[in-house]
Amino acid sequence: MSIPLQTSGDPTMKDYHSDNRSTWCDGCGDYGIWAAVKQALVELKIAPSQTLLCYDVGCHGNMSDKLLGYRFHGLHGRVIPFAAGAKLANPKLPVIAFGGDGASFSEGIGHLVHAVRSHYPVVFVLHNNGNYGLTTGQASSLTPQNQPMNTAPNGIPEATLNSMDFIFSLEPTFVARGFSGDIKQLKDIMKEAIRHRGFAFIDVLQACPTYNHFATHTMLLQKCYKVEDENHDASDFVKARKIAVDTSKRIATGILYRNENVPNFIERLVPRQGKTTTPVEEVQTFDVSKLMEEFI
Ligand code: SF4
Repeated sequence: MSIPLQTSGDPTMKDYHSDNRSTWCDGCGDYGIWAAVKQALVELKIAPSQTLLCYDVGCHGNMSDKLLGYRFHGLHGRVIPFAAGAKLANPKLPVIAFGGDGASFSEGIGHLVHAVRSHYPVVFVLHNNGNYGLTTGQASSLTPQNQPMNTAPNGIPEATLNSMDFIFSLEPTFVARGFSGDIKQLKDIMKEAIRHRGFAFIDVLQACPTYNHFATHTMLLQKCYKVEDENHDASDFVKARKIAVDTSKRIATGILYRNENVPNFIERLVPRQGKTTTPVEEVQTFDVSKLMEEFI
């Protein structure tokens, strides 16, 4: 069971256009992700007034004023609680949260864990460029161990976190991987993630030509392959986990795992069962003037 979407009219890419100029470096993967999300929303006929786009802090977060729509740009590592709260208040609104690998797998890792196990019906797009780009190339927990970085010229001593193994250990219901250099595939993944019943995790391998010199655009072009070209069965959890984790020779992209049979957080919430209105629609106006008089 996928989520029915509220749509209206025929939005175009122009409807999402902002005159604000981009500040990203030439060749940054943010450009591809920016294009893909707009295309996905337009193709699903979701107008800017019908979606909420939530951004963490990081280079990617500067996307928040480079397109139109309801947007939120929050504190570092805290994008998921805000996105989840907004979704619970107005479940009719498709909510997409964007976070970097630094914030999502360090400062905000607790939120990510509980978002997967809570199964909030929210899309999470991981801008995975393997470093903290905004703070000039610091290693993140996803940077390969011993990889020389701007602020760690001898490499970092900490072990690298295997992000996909970690995500699969939480029993997710939607896991996909995209590549910022393949906008069409990424757009198609995002459309399916928006339709997903619960929490959808999209790992986007993103080129950062300024600070990431180990997973370059060229290397990603050479190693990435599409699982849809190899008849991958996205209902096979064990196989999905295996190809998601093993990136030594080739990197699997596409929808790796999908399960639409698990009720999401809102569906499991007993006090909301049977309700046809959203909490936002149920908000009532109270006249507090009499109460205020007591303090005058
Ligand atoms: Fe993009 Fe990296 Fe430049 Fe940030 S530092 S804008 S992630 S290329």
